[in-house]
Amino acid sequence: MIASVLGELRRRPWTALCVGLLTSVAAQAAPAADCPGHPDAIGTSRTIVVDPRAYPVIGTMQYGKTLPLQEREVVLTFDDGPLPKYSNQILDILAAHCAKATFFLVGSQANANPEGVRKVRDAGHTVATHTQNHPGGMDRLPLDRSKQEIEQGIASVTAALADGTAPAPFLRIPGLRRNDGIEEFAASKGLQLWSADFPADDWRDVSANRVYELAMQRLERKGKGILLLHDIQPRTVIALPRILHELKTRGYRIVHVVPATPERPATPTEPRQWQLHPAPDMVATSRWPKVPKFAFAGPAALPVPALSDLDWHTTDLGGRAARRGRGIPLPPVTLWSSQTMLPPAGTLAALPVPAASIFKIPEPTFASALASAARRVATVAQARSTEVSSAKLGGKSHRHGRAAAAQPPATTGQAAQTPQHAEGTSPKPAVQTKRNGRSVRVAGLKKR
Ligand SMILES: [Zn+2]
Repeated sequence: MIASVLGELRRRPWTALCVGLLTSVAAQAAPAADCPGHPDAIGTSRTIVVDPRAYPVIGTMQYGKTLPLQEREVVLTFDDGPLPKYSNQILDILAAHCAKATFFLVGSQANANPEGVRKVRDAGHTVATHTQNHPGGMDRLPLDRSKQEIEQGIASVTAALADGTAPAPFLRIPGLRRNDGIEEFAASKGLQLWSADFPADDWRDVSANRVYELAMQRLERKGKGILLLHDIQPRTVIALPRILHELKTRGYRIVHVVPATPERPATPTEPRQWQLHPAPDMVATSRWPKVPKFAFAGPAALPVPALSDLDWHTTDLGGRAARRGRGIPLPPVTLWSSQTMLPPAGTLAALPVPAASIFKIPEPTFASALASAARRVATVAQARSTEVSSAKLGGKSHRHGRAAAAQPPATTGQAAQTPQHAEGTSPKPAVQTKRNGRSVRVAGLKKR
């Protein structure tokens, strides 16, 4: 602190420094005792200055980082105003608590009620933006429309301020409906996208008591963070005094957030302070840093290489010889040991059948397979003769013959499976097919 004051002394004239220090002290500490006439006010415990470009997205509802708050610190935010009927009441309640907040104003609302924008600013709150028309599904809009919404929202609020200043470069997307394009555009404009750490569902059809309960329960669970509320909802007007009173009772503190400017540098922070609950230094984490998104410098697609581009493939041996003759050094040509010309595409009807020798079946097993195949052929022949004789004798259907064929001698079935086991594969069940209208049993080996 002393070092920073000495630094300031060198940079600024004395009078300006006095004003700056007074402002800084007032911003750093505005406890309840400093809220005249309101002994029960929670006040604003400190103001932090943030650089949007250093942390372009915040709020643990959607992102890994949030404001660098200490335990039991809360940042109040209000969306969708200004709407005089309720926004003015919200401003009165906050004034009675000397609590400073951030208002994300809608451009069309600002156009309709520019005085409301100035009231927010004059009360010392941070004026931020929330698009021009508050589109419902901004993540599904064409990116150009989203850009237009964001820029028009800023322009409308700037016009309403009417003092040549712009709103803070803080943006909240309606419904938090972010997408990559919106985030990249916001970052390119130096805007900080504010999600939130917890809402209180005050835009839904719930009671004011429910808003109060959700705000406190969700805050208790996280211990600190950005609370998302709306200054256009009657239930919020009813719930807010109770929320602020309870925050104070439970030992929470309100923090005000303002953007960094050339004259107002960002509050010094460590990167880990931007995590809601950073792991203690003594805890080893296995989280690797996120892989960055690479920007492509050239066209998105590369041309498909032509066959002639490949070094090993050359039909220009004559040309190479001529160049060599002129003394031009050439890389050595390495041809494949043999090249097979395939027939033109579409004319290839079938591939050659591989020779049996490539399967390398051990000789004894192969011999037994041949023997079992011979036995199986004999069994099938026997089954056929049985079937024929049965038909002659009793005029029975094929069912009888089929049953006979389905029960080959045990030795035959065992032998038929031997080659399969020798190859380490599971035996396949025997199947039946029809040949010339007759059922024939075929061993699994034949199907492989
Ligand atoms: Zn909204």
